[in-house]
Amino acid sequence: MTLSIQNIEKILHAKRFGDSNGTIDTISIDSRSLQNNQKTLFFALVGPNNDAHQYISDLIEKGVQNFVVTHIPEKLSNKATFLVVENTLEALQRYAAYHRSLFKFPVFGLTGSNGKTIVKEWLNFLMSPDFNIIRSPKSYNSQVGVPLSVISINDRHNLGIFEAGISKMNEMEKLEVIIRPTIGIITNIGSAHDEGFEDLEKKIKEKLKLFKNSKLIIYQKNKLVDSLIESKIKSFSWSYTDETADVFISKKDIQDKTVLQIRNDKDNLEIQIPFQDEASVENAITCLMVLLSFKYSKSTIQNRMQWLYPVEMRLKIKNGINNTTLIDDSYSSDFQSLKIALDFLESQKQYKNKTVILSDIFQSGLSNEELYSKVAQLITSNKINRVIGIGETISEFKHKFKNCITFKNTSDFFLNLNYLNFINETILIKGARHFQFEEIVAALEEKTHETVLEINLNSISHNLSFYKSKLKPITKMMVMVKAFGYGSGGFEIAKLLQHHKVDYLGVAFADEGISLKNTGITLPIMVLNPETTSFSAIIQYKLEPEIYSLKGLNAFLKIAEKRKLKHFPIHIKLDTGMHRLGFEEENLDELIAVLKDNKFVTVKSILSHMATSDDLEHQEFAHSQLNLFEILSSKLMNELQIKPIRHILNTSGISNFPQAQYDMVRLGIGLYGVSNDVEEQKYLDNVGTLKSIISQIRSIQAGESVGYGRRFVADRPTKIATIPIGYADGISRHWGNSIGFVTINNQKAAIVGCICMDMLMVDVSEINCKEGDSVIIFGESPSVSYIAAQLQTIPYEILTSISQRVKRVFYRE
Ligand SMILES: *Cc1c(COP(=O)(O)O)cnc(C)c1O
Repeated sequence: MTLSIQNIEKILHAKRFGDSNGTIDTISIDSRSLQNNQKTLFFALVGPNNDAHQYISDLIEKGVQNFVVTHIPEKLSNKATFLVVENTLEALQRYAAYHRSLFKFPVFGLTGSNGKTIVKEWLNFLMSPDFNIIRSPKSYNSQVGVPLSVISINDRHNLGIFEAGISKMNEMEKLEVIIRPTIGIITNIGSAHDEGFEDLEKKIKEKLKLFKNSKLIIYQKNKLVDSLIESKIKSFSWSYTDETADVFISKKDIQDKTVLQIRNDKDNLEIQIPFQDEASVENAITCLMVLLSFKYSKSTIQNRMQWLYPVEMRLKIKNGINNTTLIDDSYSSDFQSLKIALDFLESQKQYKNKTVILSDIFQSGLSNEELYSKVAQLITSNKINRVIGIGETISEFKHKFKNCITFKNTSDFFLNLNYLNFINETILIKGARHFQFEEIVAALEEKTHETVLEINLNSISHNLSFYKSKLKPITKMMVMVKAFGYGSGGFEIAKLLQHHKVDYLGVAFADEGISLKNTGITLPIMVLNPETTSFSAIIQYKLEPEIYSLKGLNAFLKIAEKRKLKHFPIHIKLDTGMHRLGFEEENLDELIAVLKDNKFVTVKSILSHMATSDDLEHQEFAHSQLNLFEILSSKLMNELQIKPIRHILNTSGISNFPQAQYDMVRLGIGLYGVSNDVEEQKYLDNVGTLKSIISQIRSIQAGESVGYGRRFVADRPTKIATIPIGYADGISRHWGNSIGFVTINNQKAAIVGCICMDMLMVDVSEINCKEGDSVIIFGESPSVSYIAAQLQTIPYEILTSISQRVKRVFYRE
């Protein structure tokens, strides 16, 4: 929808500075999106750690003309149009609320402790044959996500599905004004049993605020909810146990399915759904309730409900064949989520060449002509080299795209797979569910075994923000990505850090830095252990060596002189007590003499490393290191007349010695979700989950043994599951013999007998599980910190021991 700046100014109650002639047709809050252009209105949001006002000058250079701001950044007042408001997030919300008020069709508002996104996706699947649906993409349910979703409503939509998630009290009112649900859906409310009655009551009251203007609320019958719903709102409830509910349901399992017997108003209905776990069954019933309230026929309900499918909401990054990177988004295809996926592709691209494999797009609310023009625009602005379209409609509109091959269906694509030549590129695979693009992902994915280390990129961003929030605004951040990002993945994490604009990366050896530079990392990279033999490569790749001895310095200067380098950045490491690497006090005069007036190199920074920043028992020692650092670094600065960046704190230093931030800190383990402080750990998100599957299950009798050396002998009939992960994958043998455990279907299974090279065995006697079920080796539970403590080592060792043969899969929620 196109709006004039004048109009928007009124809607936002903003004060305008600059031209009023512009029109806008897209809203953006992400400065990095390649989709920003002349017709974008950019809202400069201000977060606890990030203020988007700082990107405005870049955006003006890229052609963006209109900004909603709290103040006009220095020197930019004549360069663009500014709408000045008190709070840019509230302005965004106000804009969305205005936009919502223009439309009159039914809108579902979804809230609940669990299941919102799944119910939303399923309702979309169940009702899309009959409606043009607008729904929030992925799980966009926050104070920012909801307005962005609502702003995408257009004239052709006739049903809306939006989820609302809140993290604080009083957020629901704000979302209510934006979503204005006509029908409220509560997916799951938790139980008084888990939370205490008062907490639950508070929570339900808060959730019900979303429905204060709704006509109908759909929910699982519960006396507490009944008593809290306002009488003017109609309710439509279901229950397994309470016969006074509008819909009474009983269920039974058959094979892999659940059969539901439904009694609604004396009418009976039986349906099957392809799930048995309680959460999925409840979510399916919630959808069923919506269909009943819309008076769908019995046969349509039976027909459609049997095809419900597992919802995958995550964008996954996988290694593909022939040096490709796959971005797997093979479960949805709508315009909104295409935009998100393309932005994600940009933040992750590893190769210059980019291919998008795209199915027909549904429910855009636009005519096909308009839709595919817009898609083509999007593809062009994201600099995609090649489009492979699959589907009848996209084939028809092939001419809209520059370099495009199309196939009528997925089987045709497979017939031609060998000619498509996927090599050295990033491939986004994005298609509606029934195109079965998961088969394309399977075909293009590099084959490895079933054990994977899943890395949650959202958690990394969260942890980074957490530590940033502990810094003064001017303190710079170096992030250590040595040892393959503490085992979590080098390039992908570096790329994310670059996206978040950290100041420096740190690696241990030159080759780690070289491979980052080769894959497109442009951040400055410090090398902690630059071997003399690698100096030449360091110079070639513009890496920055840490210099810790006179011998090293002289060797580097010799090459620098030969290459006629000018002011090549180096970092001076001081030994203040760690006694590992670094200049000591007695070397300082000689160091100063060599560096004085030297034109070949520049001292970019001075650093030291603490031996006991994590252990307050050694506080006195830590302070002596900090003191010595102050004295030695000041001496260098004074005598050389320089003002380099100074830095000494690692993760636990950031937490324990905030007064010693100097100009920069070096974050390591904390980014990967591990803190050695119990309190701080609560604020971090788990990053890595090491997963495998059950290969085989067998029953053994009392007296029978398991594994090498018969180290486990059953004392009763026991069910044993074998998992294909062993010490060659980095699982310590000390974790075997009933010391360690894995998690299967949320239950602990003790590791029995010795851990083998490629396998281990667990006791699943008490666990309901089958072959092929997922197994968690570490993640939320057991956590890396827990394992480390049991094995009397540190989390660093557990993380970095995971062998490179374990495939890393990166995802974003
Ligand atoms: C590894 C390392 C860090 C980061 O340490 P964490 O404890 O992981 O935060 C900082 N500085 C140097 C010199 C390092 O080697």
